[in-house]
Amino acid sequence: MSTPTTATTSAREHAVQLAPRALVFSGGRPADGAGAPRSFTHPADRSPITTATLGTAADIDEAVKTARLAQPEWWSAGPSTRRETLLGLAATIREHVADLAALVTLEMGMPIRASKAGVLHAAEWFSYYAGMADKLRGSAPAVSPPGRMLNFTEHTPYGVVGAIIPWNGPMIALALKVAPALAAGNAVVLKPSEIAPFSSLQFAELAHQAGLPAGLLNVVAGGADAGARLAEHPEVGIVSFTGGNLAGRAVAAAAAARHAPVILELGGKSASIVFDDVDVKRTAKMSLLLGAVQNSGQGCFLPTRVLVQDSIYEEFVEQMVAAATQVVIGNPFDPAVTMGPVVNEAARARIQAFVDRSVSDQDGRLVSHGAQPPSTGSHLSPAIFADTDPQSTLAQEEVFGPVLAVSRFTTEDEAIAIANGTRFGLAGYVWTSDLARAHRVASRLEAGNVSINGMSALPPNAEFAGWHASGPGSEGGESGFYEFLRTKSINVQL
Ligand code: NAD
Repeated sequence: MSTPTTATTSAREHAVQLAPRALVFSGGRPADGAGAPRSFTHPADRSPITTATLGTAADIDEAVKTARLAQPEWWSAGPSTRRETLLGLAATIREHVADLAALVTLEMGMPIRASKAGVLHAAEWFSYYAGMADKLRGSAPAVSPPGRMLNFTEHTPYGVVGAIIPWNGPMIALALKVAPALAAGNAVVLKPSEIAPFSSLQFAELAHQAGLPAGLLNVVAGGADAGARLAEHPEVGIVSFTGGNLAGRAVAAAAAARHAPVILELGGKSASIVFDDVDVKRTAKMSLLLGAVQNSGQGCFLPTRVLVQDSIYEEFVEQMVAAATQVVIGNPFDPAVTMGPVVNEAARARIQAFVDRSVSDQDGRLVSHGAQPPSTGSHLSPAIFADTDPQSTLAQEEVFGPVLAVSRFTTEDEAIAIANGTRFGLAGYVWTSDLARAHRVASRLEAGNVSINGMSALPPNAEFAGWHASGPGSEGGESGFYEFLRTKSINVQL
């Protein structure tokens, strides 16, 4: 457990000074939202950040209008302008990494080292998609009769992209959408979560100062009403949503009602399959850190179910419990802290209630509550449930908190059946020293992202997509770029 020092307190106070007070950034200018005042507090100690008025549906309408006016010039400026501008945004993120990371830590409690790594990673996405801006290409298939007809494809941007993001990794979520959408020649209206809006607003201001023309990135920090308006707005060409399944369904329905395309990056309940040929101590520790300690378990693709082969099961659980006692829980501005608070008091109470219900329903056996968390703020320690029934609520529902469901398996087929036995399909993990088995199992997992003996760091040049209830559409790589472009097939009679 870590207690606040003068240095960490002043880091928090510095972040409070940085936090933008206006919750809308539209047309290159900050503005107050037209909605109700909201008080923001830091999750680690509930100290006040600010009170400010939220953006509303009316602010979304204004931002869409601004974006529509700005976009044609951005598209006609050409690929090299977009490439150079996006390289400038990547540079500005790197230059301001300390401030942007401090805002992430302040608004949602991620430990400062992880926030910095996340912000630098966001810069990588801007660099990558800067390079994609001038690689836009169509195709010219062979048609018959040859020499009498030419067919080719042309890609054009949608115009205005509506981007809705959650609070759990705000700068990464922003980069996954804003970088490819801008590179493809669109303007963006971004609605960050009303829980963690400050890093997005600050980024929009910095991007504008770094040369992104006014109106191309507009941020409206509001609640579900603002998000709903963005999804239904007739002049938003495509909606890219990251968040929970409930809101995702509402966004998809609103987009479907006007026949607009939608990209949905939704929830997950991903499984790690641990075979008995691993280094037990190391893999047990990694399973705990990746599934429950990292971002306090608040990640869509974290391995929150751990399936362990019979012969190492008892030892593995013991090692996880031992590792949980070593976790440093506390003030996220302290660089020594590995686990910060969960995002707010409502989340803490919801997760604790889930743990209590899992105990009383005997979904599994609570074997560890880890180290004692600080009593101030929204802290929790990792809860490890052994002998979890794979069909139980604990093993089937996304908790979005530091709660691990550990189950036992005997055969490879059984492990795969358990891993595939949820409605989600976001990620999967395989731990083994048998290369052939690693590939065999990876290809049978029904998930959009599989990691073997570790966790993928979301490289921008790789695709990130969900299967099943984790949602349609992809981010990253070439396909994450072409998602933001329409295709036209042109036939020329020669
Ligand atoms: P959430 O669904 O509550 O909110 C996400 C965003 O949608 C917020 O900006 C919110 O204001 C907005 N919103 C809420 N209701 C809406 C509505 N009816 N119409 C339009 N917008 C609406 O999710 P959250 O609590 O912010 O984030 C946690 C969830 O996000 C988890 O389920 C997690 O798995 C998911 N997530 C998925 C990915 C992924 O890439 N698949 C990444 C991160 C988080």
